[in-house]
Amino acid sequence: MKLSELSRRNWLKTVGLGLGATAVNLAGIPTQRAQADFVYRENMTTGTLHDGTEAVPCRLEDDKVIRPAKEIPQISETDVLVVGGGPAGCVAAIAAARAGVRVTLVERYGHFGGLATGGLVVHILGHWTMENGEKIQVCQGIGEEMMKRLESLPNGIINRENKRNPTLDAEVYKYLLVEMITEANIDVFLHSWALDAIMDDEPDPETGHPVIRGVVFQTKTGPQAILAKQVIDTTGDGDIFATSGAAYTQRMYTIGLPCRLGNLDQVTPPEGTERPRFLGDPTPVPGVNWVNMGGPDADGCDVRTLSQLELQHRKRIWKQFLDIHATPGYEKVFLMETAPQIGVRITRVIEGVETLTLDDAKAGKKYDDCIGIGGAWGGDHIGWQIPYRALLPKNVENLITAGRSISGEPRMSDVIRVIPNCWVSGHGAGCAAAVAVQNHCIARNVPIETVQRLLLEQKAWLG
Ligand SMILES: Cc1cc2nc3c(=O)[nH]c(=O)nc-3n(C[C@H](O)[C@H](O)[C@H](O)COP(=O)(O)OP(=O)(O)OC[C@H]3O[C@@H](n4cnc5c(N)ncnc54)[C@H](O)[C@@H]3O)c2cc1C
Repeated sequence: MKLSELSRRNWLKTVGLGLGATAVNLAGIPTQRAQADFVYRENMTTGTLHDGTEAVPCRLEDDKVIRPAKEIPQISETDVLVVGGGPAGCVAAIAAARAGVRVTLVERYGHFGGLATGGLVVHILGHWTMENGEKIQVCQGIGEEMMKRLESLPNGIINRENKRNPTLDAEVYKYLLVEMITEANIDVFLHSWALDAIMDDEPDPETGHPVIRGVVFQTKTGPQAILAKQVIDTTGDGDIFATSGAAYTQRMYTIGLPCRLGNLDQVTPPEGTERPRFLGDPTPVPGVNWVNMGGPDADGCDVRTLSQLELQHRKRIWKQFLDIHATPGYEKVFLMETAPQIGVRITRVIEGVETLTLDDAKAGKKYDDCIGIGGAWGGDHIGWQIPYRALLPKNVENLITAGRSISGEPRMSDVIRVIPNCWVSGHGAGCAAAVAVQNHCIARNVPIETVQRLLLEQKAWLG
């Protein structure tokens, strides 16, 4: 059953924005302001989920937990479904929407930005390449637009001058993404955790590969399905390609937990005091530093591991903070915030049609399906091309990935994963998905010159 049908029958009230404002007129009909956005249901029937569908609990059968089959309500249908609102996902969604297709963006948390905001990873590394003795910025399309717009907001970004690696503010970036995503008229579902790929019952007639048709999300309303012509997996962890049956490799990598410290402008150490460790680096907010953390190589898709690391890392941060606080002159420094989202760097990586290697990148290997140029830590290297085929799974159709999960050997994934490179691959994925929709073809068969033209129109740099 579609949500719109439910709404006519079951929505009893609709609440409005602001302090005590009601958005229901005297006839009980939702006013325009609230109609689109707010749903308030009451008097739910016992035995139903919040969307009015029957509750079908799991059962214990012969000591095994069994989930009975149940039809899942379809909450939306779209052209391009982007799952995961981190750096790659937001740029992919904006790029596709600006190309003129209907886009839905789904995110498990209540904000956008992924690790760059919820993970407090605020330092924009890998921003530059060296071409003919000159430093060139890799992300010149939507990535550059975001940084320019951050510059125009109070405390949005620092270190943009002299070709340095900038640092942004997580809260300002969260706000900017809301602004850009709503401007692009993207349909948004937050608090929606992607569970499963929905696959067509027929394989693609040309390739024989399974075809993705949408994704099921777990929400407080109950499980909900969104159908789409193209799906972009920007969950970072490849949650969608893993459940679609696409080939991938699972990696263990260092997992940390960044934090922010306040009052660093109130530090008055007596002469000769040794600077305490773990003070981090300045952010756009005066007196506030960002402190990164390495952490052990571990499995970022294992829930026990993640739980244990949260506990360990919080104890470690507290100890680090106490050491700072106990240093003469640093008494006013306080622990402002630990990242709400644990710092998982690399987990699942797609087995793409093309796989990037560090040797190829250093040698400047060229690809005819280049959708952008990546940068690396020092910025004193030539630009490496990102081929569209590194975003495409070998064996599933209409699914594209972008961000830290694109196809690369381990040493290369460490370069791929930095934020500007995720912006760049997200841009390519969004444009490619839009072109696939507009050309009524599978993602694998997009006319790549059309994708490249669209990227250039959107001011991307292709070398
Ligand atoms: C501790 C740490 C330090 C780092 N330091 C730097 C640095 O200094 N500079 C730099 O440039 N890069 C750094 N990085 C790397 C960089 O932050 C990430 O690689 C980059 O953010 C990846 O972007 P992404 O969009 O691919 O994925 P993510 O940022 O991981 O975003 C994925 C999004 O998908 C959502 N999501 C995940 N699963 C689901 C699901 N099942 N359903 C719905 N939504 C889902 C997440 O909530 C998130 O919003 C660091 C990373 C870490 C962890």
